[in-house]
Amino acid sequence: MSVSPPRLRPVWGGLSLRSAQGVQERCLAFHSATVGPNHTDTSISKEFARNESAMNPDLRKERDNATFKTDLLTYILDGGAEKTQRRREIESLVISDPDFQHVDLNFLSRSERYAAAVKRSAQMIVKMREHGISDPEEIYCSANLLWRELFPVCYCWSSEKIREHLAKCVSFFQNGLLCSNAFAVHNIAFTVQIWNGREHEALGLHYAMFLPTLQKLGDPAQQEKWIPPAKTFKVLGTYAQTELGHGTHIRALETTATYDPSTQEFVLNSPTVSSIKWWPGGLGKTSNHAIVLAQLYTQGHCHGLHAFIVPIRNMSTHEPLPGVVVGDIGPKFGFDEVDNGYLKLDNVRIPRENMLMKYAKVEPDGTYVKPPSDKLTYGTMVFIRSMIVGESARALAKACTIAIRYSAVRRQSELRPGEPEPQILDYQTQQYKLFPLLATAYAFHFVGQYMSQTYHRITGDIDQGDFSQLPELHALSAGLKAFTTWAASAGIEVCRMACGGHGYSRCSSLPDIYVTFTPTCTYEGENTVMMLQTARYLVKSYTQASAGEQVGGTVSYLSEMSQRRLQPQQVSSRPTVVNISDLSSLVEAYKLRAANLVEAYKLRAAKLVEMAARSLQGELQRRKSKEEAWNGAAIDLVRASDAHCHYVVVKLFTAKLGEVGDTAVHSVLGSLALLYALHGITVHSGDFLQAGLLSVPQVAQASQQVKELLAQIRVNAVALADAFDYRDEMLNSVLGRYDGNVYENMFEWAKKSPLNSEQVHESYHKYLKPLHSKL
Ligand SMILES: Cc1cc2nc3c(=O)[nH]c(=O)nc-3n(C[C@H](O)[C@H](O)[C@H](O)COP(=O)(O)OP(=O)(O)OC[C@H]3O[C@@H](n4cnc5c(N)ncnc54)[C@H](O)[C@@H]3O)c2cc1C
Repeated sequence: MSVSPPRLRPVWGGLSLRSAQGVQERCLAFHSATVGPNHTDTSISKEFARNESAMNPDLRKERDNATFKTDLLTYILDGGAEKTQRRREIESLVISDPDFQHVDLNFLSRSERYAAAVKRSAQMIVKMREHGISDPEEIYCSANLLWRELFPVCYCWSSEKIREHLAKCVSFFQNGLLCSNAFAVHNIAFTVQIWNGREHEALGLHYAMFLPTLQKLGDPAQQEKWIPPAKTFKVLGTYAQTELGHGTHIRALETTATYDPSTQEFVLNSPTVSSIKWWPGGLGKTSNHAIVLAQLYTQGHCHGLHAFIVPIRNMSTHEPLPGVVVGDIGPKFGFDEVDNGYLKLDNVRIPRENMLMKYAKVEPDGTYVKPPSDKLTYGTMVFIRSMIVGESARALAKACTIAIRYSAVRRQSELRPGEPEPQILDYQTQQYKLFPLLATAYAFHFVGQYMSQTYHRITGDIDQGDFSQLPELHALSAGLKAFTTWAASAGIEVCRMACGGHGYSRCSSLPDIYVTFTPTCTYEGENTVMMLQTARYLVKSYTQASAGEQVGGTVSYLSEMSQRRLQPQQVSSRPTVVNISDLSSLVEAYKLRAANLVEAYKLRAAKLVEMAARSLQGELQRRKSKEEAWNGAAIDLVRASDAHCHYVVVKLFTAKLGEVGDTAVHSVLGSLALLYALHGITVHSGDFLQAGLLSVPQVAQASQQVKELLAQIRVNAVALADAFDYRDEMLNSVLGRYDGNVYENMFEWAKKSPLNSEQVHESYHKYLKPLHSKL
C-alpha cells in the first residue's frame, strides 16, 4: 500500500507532519493486524503479569493500545536483547538479595540516613569479599557491572573482556586519566544506585578516588605502604580539593604544604578562612585520611598544586588529630546520606614520604623535581563527562516514566461536558510538557551511547600514543555534559510540576531525582565554564576554517560554511510516497524529513559560531585585552556552544533511526526524533529567524506540526516510558508504579510518617491546649 501525503512546504524540505501522521496511523493498523496488541514477554513483565488483575485499568488500556513492542525498543536502548537479559538478571540478583532490601529513607533523620548509608556500604564490602572482589579496580568495575547505568556495554561482556577492561582501568588509573576530584563525586552517585537504589555511598570517595590516586600518584614504596590498609578499609580515605573560596579555578587554591628540611616534614596549613577544604564526600565523619591538594613550597618557591596523604583522625578512636578541624558541612539540597565535609589544617606535620611522588618529587634536602608531563590529565574529564551525558538521559527517563504513568492514571476536570473526567495525559498542555522531554530522554540516551563509544575509541588511540582527537573530544564532552545536564535538570522539575501536588510529595521520588541529579550541572566542571571551554574550541576551529584549513569531526560544518557550501535547503516540491508496510520506504521518508532538520540545526550552529567569533573580534577591536574581550562576548559564546551541541544531538538521534530494523519501532522513534527537532525549533525560533533560516509562517507551521506530533505520540506514551525498563525498585516512586495503583499506596505510604505514630502529638498538649484555657 502506498500513500501520497498532501503537500506542505516548510523550508527544511517537505517535513510534513500530516504525512508522518498518515504513516503512523497506517502503521498502527498494519501492526495491529499482524502482531496484535502490544504485550511484553520479559521476565520482569512476567513478574508484573502476576499482578495483571490488580493493574490500573487505564494503564492496562494504554499498554494494550501501544503500536509497538516495548521489548524491542528496550533492546535498542540496551544495545541488544542479550544485554537486556543480562541487565535484568543482574538487577534481579541485587534486588532480591535479602541484605539489600529497600529501606525507605524518607522518614529518617539526616543522621539516621547517614548511618543507613554507612551500614549499606559496610554490607557492600562484605558482599564484595564474599565474591572475592578485593582490588579497588575490581570493586569499581564490579559495582559498575551491577548497575547498567554506568557501563551499559559491560552487560554482555565475557569475563575475559571484563578482565581486559579492568586492565584498561588500571592503566588509566596509573596514567592519571581517572584522577579527578569530580570523578569521585560522580562515582558516588553511580555506586549508590547499584546497591542502594537511590541512597548515596558513604565510602564512595574511598574506593573511587582515594585508592586510585594512591595507585596513580604514589611511588612503589608509597603504594606498598598505603594500599594494603586502604584495601582492607583500615585506612579510610577521601580526596580533598575544593575549598570554601575556590572550586572552578583550582590554580587559586590556598592550602599550603611547606617543606621543612630540618625534620624532613611537610607542614600543612589552611592560611585563610577561604582555604578551608569544603565539599569532599566522606570527609565529614567517615574518613581517617585525606589526600589533600595543596600548594607546594620548598626552598622558598611555590611549585603549584600537589597531592599529600594527610592523616586526619586517630586510627583507633577516630577522634580528629591535633591541628585538624574536621566536620560535616551540614544539610544540603540533597545528598543527605553523604557526609560532605570541611577540613582546616593548622600546622599539621606529615613525613616527606607522604607527598605522592611517582612523578613530581621533593628530595630530602628540599630540591624539587618536576613531573615529566601533565598531558594525560586531559583524558579524565573526557571520561567523566562522557558518562554524565548518559546519566542525564537516565535521570530524565526516570522522571518521564513517573510523570507519564501518573498522567495516565490521574483523572481531573472536564474535557467534554457530561463525560467522565479525562486522563490528564489527554490535555494538550500536559502532552506539551511531557512528550518533548520524553523525546529528549531518548535523544540523550543515544548521545550517551555515542559518547561512551567515542570515549572507548579515543582511549584506544591514547593507548597507541595518538592524542590528535582529544581536543575535539574534550570540547564535545564538556559541551554535551553541560547541554544535557541543564536540559535534564530543568526537565525533571517540569515532570514534578506536571504531577500537581502529588509531585511535591517525596513519595513521588521526583524531588529526590531532582536533588540528586542537579549537582551534575555544577560538579565535574561547572556548566557555564564547560560551555565556554567548548566555545574556545569552536572559535579556534572557525578561525582555522576561515583561513582555509579543513576542520574535521563535529565541527566540519565550519569548513563547509567558509567554502559557502552551506545553503538553506530549497523547499521540497514533490510529495513523498510512502509504503507503510515497507521499512525501507519508511526509513527513506524519515530520512528526507530528518536530513533537512539536521541541516537546519547545522546552519543555525554555523551562524551562531560565526556571530560569536565576530562578537569576540568586535570586543578585541575595542582595544580590550584578550580576557576582557572573552568576557565581553561570553553570552554569544555560550549560545554558540549550545547551538553546536543541539545540532550534534539532533544529528545523532536521527542517525540512530537508520539502525532500527523494526517498522513499528522505527515509526514511533521517528516521531520522537521529529518532535525533538521541531520542538527545539519552536523554542529557539529567534535563532532560526535571526539567521534567516526560517520565515515567520514557517515557524508557525513548525508549531502546528509539534501539536500534531503530540497527538500522534499520545497512544504510545506509556509504552515509550515502559521501554526504559525501570523496575519499581529502581524508580522508588508511588506515582510511577508499574501497576498504577497510586492512591491506595500513597495512603499506605503516608501512614508510615512518624507524625502518625501517635494520635495526639505532644505539641498539642504543650502549646495548643494551653491556648484554650487562656481564652
Ligand atoms: C553535591 C556536590 C558534591 C561535591 N563533591 C565534591 C567532592 O567530593 N570533592 C570536591 O573537592 N568538591 C566537591 N564538590 C564541589 C564542586 O566540585 C564545585 O562546587 C564545582 O567544581 C564548582 O566550583 P565552585 O563551587 O567554585 O563554583 P564557582 O566556580 O564559584 O561558580 C559559581 C558561578 O560562577 C561562574 N563562573 C566561575 N568561573 C567562571 C568563568 N571562568 N567564566 C564564567 N563564569 C564563571 C559559574 O558559571 C557559576 O555560575 C561538590 C559539589 C556538590 C554540589
